[in-house]
Amino acid sequence: MSGGIAYVLDVHHDVEGKVNQEMVELSSIEEPTEIAFVRGLIEDHHHYTGSELAARILLDFNRALPRFVKILPTDYKRVLEEEAAKAAEAKKNEYPLPILPGNPVRKAHEESKKKEREAEEKEKKKSDLLDIEESFGDAAAEKKRSALVLDKTKGFMKYQRRAEKYRNPKTRTRDWQELSSRLNEDELKFQTARCMDCGVPFCQSDTGCPISNIIPKWNELVFQNQWKDALNRLLMTNNFPEFTGRVCPAPCEGACVLGINEDPVGIKSIECAIIDRGFEMGWMVPSPPKYRSGKKVAIIGSGPAGLACADQLNKAGHSVTVYERSDRIGGLLMYGIPNMKLDKNVVQRRVDFMASEGVNFRPGTFVGEGDITLDSLRGESDAVVISTGATVARDLPIPNRNLEGVHYAMEFLHKNTKSLLDSQLADGSYISAKDKHVVVIGGGDTGNDCIGTSVRHGAKSVTNFELLPQPPPERARDNPWPQWPRIYRVDYGHTEVKTHMGKDPREYCVMSKEFVDNGEGKVKGINTVRVEWTKSATGGWDMKQVEGSEQHFPADLVLLSMGFLGPEDKVMGGAIEKDARKNIKTPPGHYSTNIPGVFAAGDCRRGQSLIVWGINEGRMAARDVDSYLTGVGTQLPVTGGIVKRPPYELLNKVDGAPKELITQAA
Ligand SMILES: Cc1cc2nc3c(=O)[nH]c(=O)nc-3n(C[C@H](O)[C@H](O)[C@H](O)COP(=O)(O)OP(=O)(O)OC[C@H]3O[C@@H](n4cnc5c(N)ncnc54)[C@H](O)[C@@H]3O)c2cc1C
Ligand code: SF4
Repeated sequence: MSGGIAYVLDVHHDVEGKVNQEMVELSSIEEPTEIAFVRGLIEDHHHYTGSELAARILLDFNRALPRFVKILPTDYKRVLEEEAAKAAEAKKNEYPLPILPGNPVRKAHEESKKKEREAEEKEKKKSDLLDIEESFGDAAAEKKRSALVLDKTKGFMKYQRRAEKYRNPKTRTRDWQELSSRLNEDELKFQTARCMDCGVPFCQSDTGCPISNIIPKWNELVFQNQWKDALNRLLMTNNFPEFTGRVCPAPCEGACVLGINEDPVGIKSIECAIIDRGFEMGWMVPSPPKYRSGKKVAIIGSGPAGLACADQLNKAGHSVTVYERSDRIGGLLMYGIPNMKLDKNVVQRRVDFMASEGVNFRPGTFVGEGDITLDSLRGESDAVVISTGATVARDLPIPNRNLEGVHYAMEFLHKNTKSLLDSQLADGSYISAKDKHVVVIGGGDTGNDCIGTSVRHGAKSVTNFELLPQPPPERARDNPWPQWPRIYRVDYGHTEVKTHMGKDPREYCVMSKEFVDNGEGKVKGINTVRVEWTKSATGGWDMKQVEGSEQHFPADLVLLSMGFLGPEDKVMGGAIEKDARKNIKTPPGHYSTNIPGVFAAGDCRRGQSLIVWGINEGRMAARDVDSYLTGVGTQLPVTGGIVKRPPYELLNKVDGAPKELITQAA
């Protein structure tokens, strides 16, 4: 050995006798940073070579760790120690020395510090200049930008966040195309250069990305222009980055370490760019599984949870059929989130992709109505997964609730997208907001999507009631980093109303008291009262109506968007046990229901949530289903895991299957 460190997996505990211990030192690996380094090396090795040994080590890394022996040449150790001593000395000199003024050592130190600061200032000015040049979108600048060489080591100090720009709110409301114009390649490079590759990347922790996307890794790969590699890394943890890259609220960015005192890295834009490029470049090639297990799985519901579960189980070799009551596949991706946020061609492209990999889709099939029931599916399949979403909307049972013109938000949004896709709204089969005073009761994504849709219809006015007070502009004390920041935000619908109608649509602390009849059974307004929130003695919040604050709001169309209560009973009847929140009950950390062979995933199990959580649920439920079907555990990855399932027949050899390959679902 001529220098450098070797890490040896000493399976037979015999490495000691095989090395010349006069020249090298042996030790175990104990430093957390070194452990992370070794794990990273093995991950890379697995990624680039597909090594099965690496896969096995990663599967149970903590058990393998004590078997690693670090071999360090004694000469190299001496050099390292000398270097460390020099570095420590240099560090000490960085601090002002306690020497009297005029001392030449102190003067030299101060001068060198001043020079350093001046150099940094110059560098910053250069980068600011580049930022300004960035804003000119002409061809010359394009060329110039592509030649940019960026400094990733200090990128987080030098470059600003490049947020995706939304199209002009004045003109974008004339169509239903996506709002966002994506970042160009060089803007993305700036963005990846800002990633600090933190020792502990909170962006992929449990407060960050729920599927533990390996964010710093693909940031680095994009920075190095290794897009295809970045795509492969991304697809290890996320089945549908084209959805999350467009509409995930990005908890990863809320947990980004840079976000403590700066704008966080624009992670979501990078994710979207990687997958979009994957499709553009033809790298996304369907790869049906080589081996089929002969087992059949029925999945009820085609939202992100059902689709992710189907994708994973299909990859594992099982034959999967997805049943969906709507005429198009995709759940809320298709018929909840409007086209201007998520283009339906993008959803259909993924559905087609999965179909070409062997997943069967049965749209227009309402399980629980007609011949197809949970029992019939159990009879013809080896396992059933319920992923029917949390579709029971919260009602507002105040006087005159039954007036014409009061609708649930989802009815409004679903019909609009269906009519748009069927006929570009020419068939008139939707609830129109044209020339109406619209009141949306309740906020969140659903409320905002109702606002944006109403503006596009040409509403006369749009008002949005919120029962709660306006959130603070910055994190409150009880909402520290890296939690998701619960702060005041201006979403696309709010901007559009402000642009076209001169005022943000939101009214805070408003309680609806009754709908007002126009005399012909149609709604013509809402009587309201303001409320006040105060902290109770127990620390909870008390709500009190403010006397004399009654107000009438005109409304020809009222959209109820106050959240969802849980899954419908159509599929489950009384057979499936539910929890206290009326969601499907499963054991903690598992996805099996009280009926053997029946599993649950997504909003019907965890309550109303996000796409990324749906994907996570689908992936994790697939592990439980796979374990159940094989009877010997699963090789499907856990959240953020990178281990791929080996060929199916390997697991089929129950007796011969290596113990390390058999794990319980997390
Ligand atoms: C308007 C709106 C906007 C949203 N915007 C965002 C956003 O921007 N970002 C984000 O991350 N999240 C957003 N969400 C939340 C996100 O869409 C959901 O959390 C996610 O779709 C839940 O996935 P799921 O697979 O559990 O269920 P769903 O997507 O609800 O899919 C369930 C599917 O099951 C079908 N189904 C139900 N019963 C049956 C049956 N008996 N037989 C056959 N099929 C059945 C339903 O038709 C539906 O298609 C939004 C939600 C709404 C309502
Ligand atoms: S899925 Fe969401 S949380 Fe995860 S990296 Fe993408 S944007 Fe961030």
